[in-house]
Amino acid sequence: ERKELHRLRREPTRTIDGVDIHLYANAESREDVAEAHALGASGIGLYRTEFLFLQRNELPDEEEQFRAYRDVVLGMSGRPVTIRTLDLGADKADRTGLAMRDEPNPALGLRGVRLSLARANLLDTQLRALLRASGYGPLRVLVPMISSREEVREVKARLRSLARDLRTQGHEIADHIPLGAMIEVPAAAIALPGFIGSVDFLSIGTNDLVQYLLAADRNNEALADLYTPLHPAVLRLLRDVIRLAHTRGRPIAVCGEMAGDPLYAPLLLSLGLTEFSLHPNTLLEVRRLIRECDLAALRKRMPSLLRARDRAGIEAWMKV
Ligand code: PEP
Ligand code: MG
Repeated sequence: ERKELHRLRREPTRTIDGVDIHLYANAESREDVAEAHALGASGIGLYRTEFLFLQRNELPDEEEQFRAYRDVVLGMSGRPVTIRTLDLGADKADRTGLAMRDEPNPALGLRGVRLSLARANLLDTQLRALLRASGYGPLRVLVPMISSREEVREVKARLRSLARDLRTQGHEIADHIPLGAMIEVPAAAIALPGFIGSVDFLSIGTNDLVQYLLAADRNNEALADLYTPLHPAVLRLLRDVIRLAHTRGRPIAVCGEMAGDPLYAPLLLSLGLTEFSLHPNTLLEVRRLIRECDLAALRKRMPSLLRARDRAGIEAWMKV
């Protein structure tokens, strides 16, 4: 069984009816990147930059960040690398004093892009480091906790203006650095038609999307039964977002834990997903499962999945 999985490192993630599915890796360290490369990931779908800011007392400067991001790009030797801007706050508190300490409601507080926009230097330093790293290979910038069009436009404006400055200063920067939004706040999912034109790609953060949509804390043990993607509201929203992205020609992945659980792969394929971003730990298992799926048959079963009225109905659908 181990050997069989190991063999899959060199195999494509192709359904039995011949459709190639992309498996990108979630990563936050050098080791993860090396592992992703060795497993034949299509690229990095989510590089969490928080680790650079945690467990230390001062902020990493532009140079340190640049070197870290460049190494990720080089480590994937030409495969696309998606780096997420800082998502501090809520459960990810730092020691540098950047994230607010005593928010009454941290999950609804100053986190992700909100913190980045509130501290202009922080965002600019990170974007400059990312822009410089884009000279070394295909790099995409992903923004967490987007809830409105304004936030997307603000980050995009900063990115453009900093790119101009850096070019003037003689830095080698990619001609186009794709900018993407995390879809993890329900408002962003619902208002997506209004700003999809401003982004190049999307990534659905089901960890937070489920939390906010179902009003169930992702870390509260007492709510473990409530906190699940197997809810009709979650599936419906996923379907709508994936469909809109495909209609508008925007690549879209799921990068929450849901994408890394082989159990959910048929369900996500049925909803139209073709890009998964998951931790290297389960990449081969998910690949193995997808290779046993008939995509056309799963797509035909989407209406019946969306007709499921409760968790039991969804689980019954999954068992067929
Ligand atoms: C998510 O919310 O699904 C996600 C991928 O981001 P994080 O788990 O880092 O909040
Ligand atoms: Mg999140």
